[in-house]
Amino acid sequence: MIILYIILGLVTVFLAVILLRAAAFRPKTFPVTESEPVEFDGERAIASLQQLVRCKTVSYYDPSKEDDEEFEKLIGLLPQLYPEVFRVCSFDRLPDRALLFKWEGTSHDHPSVMMAHYDVVPVNEDQWEKDPFCGEIDNGVLWGRGTLDTKVTMNAVLTAADTLISKGFVPENDIYFAFSGGEEINGKGASNIVDWFEERKIDLGLVVDEGGGVVENVFPGVKAPCGVVGIAEKGMMNAIFTVKSQGGHASAPKPHTPVGILSKACCKLEANPFPMHVTKPAAEMFDTLGRHSTFLYKIIFANFGIFKGVLDLLGKKSGGEINALLRTTVAFTQMEGSAAPNVIPPQATMVANLRLNPMDTVESAKARL
Ligand SMILES: [Zn+2]
Repeated sequence: MIILYIILGLVTVFLAVILLRAAAFRPKTFPVTESEPVEFDGERAIASLQQLVRCKTVSYYDPSKEDDEEFEKLIGLLPQLYPEVFRVCSFDRLPDRALLFKWEGTSHDHPSVMMAHYDVVPVNEDQWEKDPFCGEIDNGVLWGRGTLDTKVTMNAVLTAADTLISKGFVPENDIYFAFSGGEEINGKGASNIVDWFEERKIDLGLVVDEGGGVVENVFPGVKAPCGVVGIAEKGMMNAIFTVKSQGGHASAPKPHTPVGILSKACCKLEANPFPMHVTKPAAEMFDTLGRHSTFLYKIIFANFGIFKGVLDLLGKKSGGEINALLRTTVAFTQMEGSAAPNVIPPQATMVANLRLNPMDTVESAKARL
């Protein structure tokens, strides 16, 4: 009987600690710094962005579909739109539509790179209410493919530099502006720029690129919009699975065709997700955002060590962004068999698109598959 009371007492204490920790799990306060007013020609900045948006710089994996003149049109506009940048900075065109500016600072020790891309993904015009390249402003909204992704960034960087140069500003350290014209198709522009820096043995102090956004209803239990700072991108890898057979007519098949065998592999991999690995930045994000969550989730995030398994399970069951933050993900995207419905394929293939957790490498992921 006494043992029962002791156990009951311990359970009560355990529950009390968990609940108290959840109750004390409140948002951290951060000092708010006053922002400095910035003076620049807003009208001109918007007009420049409109001009960039009007260039149909759509990139395709099949280069014959691309309109090179539109890319040249955009590049040709830059000296007009940002004359001060062109007066003071050096400008290099590297292969695969990469553009590189250098704004010299008083020191060359800790150079920074500001990045953006000026190509855009193809448009399904029927789904647009306006011409996707009109660059029109309606009710305070600028319409156009690529406005956010990421011509606004390119324009912001160049407008800021143009404005500062016109005021006689000289940066403390060198600043590079690096723009890719093939980001959406994994083009080689960005890696050509990396090579350029490596050849010159330039060590960068800071690189700022597209990444993150304001998201809602992504983090469990948090309703407020969250500004998410992207500090890295998961690695990407495509795995191609192939099964061969002797083919033949479908009238007298073996128990399993190559398609059946691939399906089994697909089911097995979907049923067995990669192990969870919470990186340090992810843990810090849980600690920050978890404090803004509902009490139920606070219980989990305030007692992360104890409830890690619950999060693992939730991720596996629900998928989505949180799960993608926790592990290497596998998405089966393509499958190909024979050309006719009544022919057993001599070869069938299946493609999975993997996004690698920092814990994984191409080799370790391949080994697990
Ligand atoms: Zn983008």
